[in-house]
Order: sequence, then C-alpha cells, then structure tokens
Amino acid sequence: MPRSAPGSAPLPSPLDGEIIVSRLKELAACTDVPGEMTRLTLTPAHKRAAAQVSFWMREAGLAQVHMDATGSIVGRYAADRANAKTLVLGSHIDTVRNAGIYDGNLGVLTAIAAVEALKQQGIRLPFAIEVAAFADEEGVRFLSTLTSSKAMAGIFDPKSLEDVDAQGISRMEALRSFGAPVDRVADCRRDPAETLGYVEVHIEQGPVLEAAGAPLGIVTGIAGASRGHVRIRGEAGHSGTLPMAMRHDALTAAAEMILAVEARGRADGKELVATVGTLIIAGSAVNVVPGEVQFSLDVRALSDELRTRAVADIRAAVADIAERRGVKASVDIGHEVPAAPCHGPLKERMAKVVEGLQLPVVRLPSGAGHDAMVFRGVMPMAMLFVRSENGSHNPREYAAPADIGLAAEALYAFLLKTAEEE
Ligand SMILES: [Zn+2]
Repeated sequence: MPRSAPGSAPLPSPLDGEIIVSRLKELAACTDVPGEMTRLTLTPAHKRAAAQVSFWMREAGLAQVHMDATGSIVGRYAADRANAKTLVLGSHIDTVRNAGIYDGNLGVLTAIAAVEALKQQGIRLPFAIEVAAFADEEGVRFLSTLTSSKAMAGIFDPKSLEDVDAQGISRMEALRSFGAPVDRVADCRRDPAETLGYVEVHIEQGPVLEAAGAPLGIVTGIAGASRGHVRIRGEAGHSGTLPMAMRHDALTAAAEMILAVEARGRADGKELVATVGTLIIAGSAVNVVPGEVQFSLDVRALSDELRTRAVADIRAAVADIAERRGVKASVDIGHEVPAAPCHGPLKERMAKVVEGLQLPVVRLPSGAGHDAMVFRGVMPMAMLFVRSENGSHNPREYAAPADIGLAAEALYAFLLKTAEEE
C-alpha cells in the first residue's frame, strides 16, 4: 500500500513500488532469448518492449508518444501554460545479454509512474515533462553507443549509422526495420535554452548504498574513464634451459605492473578506481618463459585531473618496472571520456527531496556510464541511484520494491519542488 505522512493525503498509487516491479517483470517478458533477459538494441524483443512502454506512457497521460529517429520512445506531458520549458526524464530499455530486469528499465518506469501520479492528482506543472525510453545505452550490438541520448543532446555522430553488428546488419538497416524515422535525427535534439535539464533514476549497480543502509543515493557525477592496453615484450625461452638470472620474463613483469596499477588505484582512497581486467599471454605453454604479454587498463575518477595524474603515475611505474626487468613496455590509452559532474542546483534539490522522505542523504559518484553523461556541457543533468544488490548486468541484479517505491516518490516530489523553484 502507498505510504503517507500523518495528516496528508495518501500518495498516488502509481508510485507504489510493487506496481512498478510488476511492470518491470512484464517488460522482462520482452526478451530475445526465452528464459533470460536479453534485449539488445533494435531487436524484435526491443520492439515489443517499445510498444509496451508506449502503451504505459499513453495510459499515464503522456501525449505525442512516438518513436524517434534513433528508436527511442518519447512522450510529453504538457505544461499548465504556453511557451513553458521542458524537463526530460529518462533511461534506457535495451539490455546486455543475460541481464537483470532493473538496469535502465527502472528509470523509464519510475518516470512514467511520476507522470501518472501527476495525472491522477490532476496536476499540471509550469513546465512540460518529456519521458524518454532510450534505445541504445549498453553498446553490446554495435560498436558505438549512447546514440539515442546523444541525438537528444545534439551530438549524434552520423557515422554510427554505418556500424555493423556481428550478423553484418548496419545500424541504419536495423533502425529502418525497427520502424524508426532514421532521416529525422535532427528532430531528436532538444534546445538547451528550452530545457530545464535531464534527470535519470537508475539502480546503483554497486555496493555503496547497501553498505550505507540507504535506499537512495544522490549521484555527484559520472566518472571519467581512461582505457587502454599495456604491451610487454621480453624474451621467450625454454623453461628448463634458461637460467633465472638471464630471463626477461614478460609475464612476471606484467604481474608486478598489475600490482602497481592496483596500488595506484588504492592510493586515492574512494576517489579513483584502477583495474586490469584482461591478460593475454602470447604462445603460452607450461614449459615456455613468456616473451610477450598484453593486459588491459581501466582507470576511472570523478576528477579528470586525478585520473590524468593516476595514468601518468601508472605509465611511470610501468616504465620503471620494464627497465629493471630488462623488458620493453608500452602503454596505449585508446579511449578517454571526461567526467560528467551532476548539476549543482538539481543535485541539491534531489538531496532535499530525499531528506524530506526522512531518508539518509548519501552522495556518491557513478563509476558506470549512463545516458545522463552525454548531457555534460549541454544542459543540467542529475541522477538518483536506487540501492541494488548482486551487482548488475546479471540475472541476480535486484532492487527491493520498497526502495523502488521510495525512488518513485522522490522523483514525484522532485517534480513538485522543481515547480516551486524554477
Ligand atoms: Zn543502465
């Protein structure tokens, strides 16, 4: 049942966490692989999910519900006046393979619930609300990603239409068969001058809120990332005949470097994470001293300065270890994304709303990327995290109905508070 403060009107039922969870489960039936949640972008399952979301949007009182050029479903709840600005709420409905049911979908369904609650209360606000169910966040099917939110931010790269999936189908072809009006990408852009900002509810996908005993978290920003590879060339040799003192073992050098990456990651406390996730040993065999090794590098921080410094320190440590061990090493950072800090006033408004629900206010950065990050430097952006268990991108991903209900209440209260303050 909906909770309510003593003496106040009962909360509108669309905000009830159990109702949102039942919709999450219904949406999870739209899968390309029976028995698991697999809904890659622009697939038949995605199309069914898009139709279901369109239906719920219309039911919630959203008008002009349509599919945009990138396959997103967007609906609009009009303002109480003409020439009002627009606040965009959203998240994505594509998933990874064998995903959980909450990642992305939760943000879309809480946004729809908040609008439905307004409709139920007969409330129109001094600004319009748009709800976007983005089509392309996970980046599993095609090389490029976030194309839907990028189109809204006005930074869509037309080259992404030429991306090809494993079956040889281009994004352009996939969009056409999805039914998206591909030629109208320009219509996706929202003019920042007419937009109050973008707000996204998402599961945390990490253990911080759970450890803090807090159902909701105020996201301080989305971490920037540096990603690349370290390649080490030593000398391969026979494990039986090559004396220890004469070896230039690429793998033991890599081992020392990997520990140096971990140590550097730890040196900045909670502000930075540094990970080696892959290790490739060329021609590996039990009786061969490894001559060539490559490992990946992933460094993330909310501060670009901190991240840049950490990468420089890692480069220095790698060079140092390589020299000492008589191997050659190169660090190649091929992918760099700047951090996207959340907008101060929107973030503080969200914090006040969470406080108003008698909940602890926990602030945390997002280590994972989200649609929200593309609005960096374009329009104000904020995110609300919901406590989640068992990580994410796997079927054990979980958020409790009570927490989901609180997130929907917070988003609804955020809309009302925005009406007071904007
Ligand atoms: Zn997501």
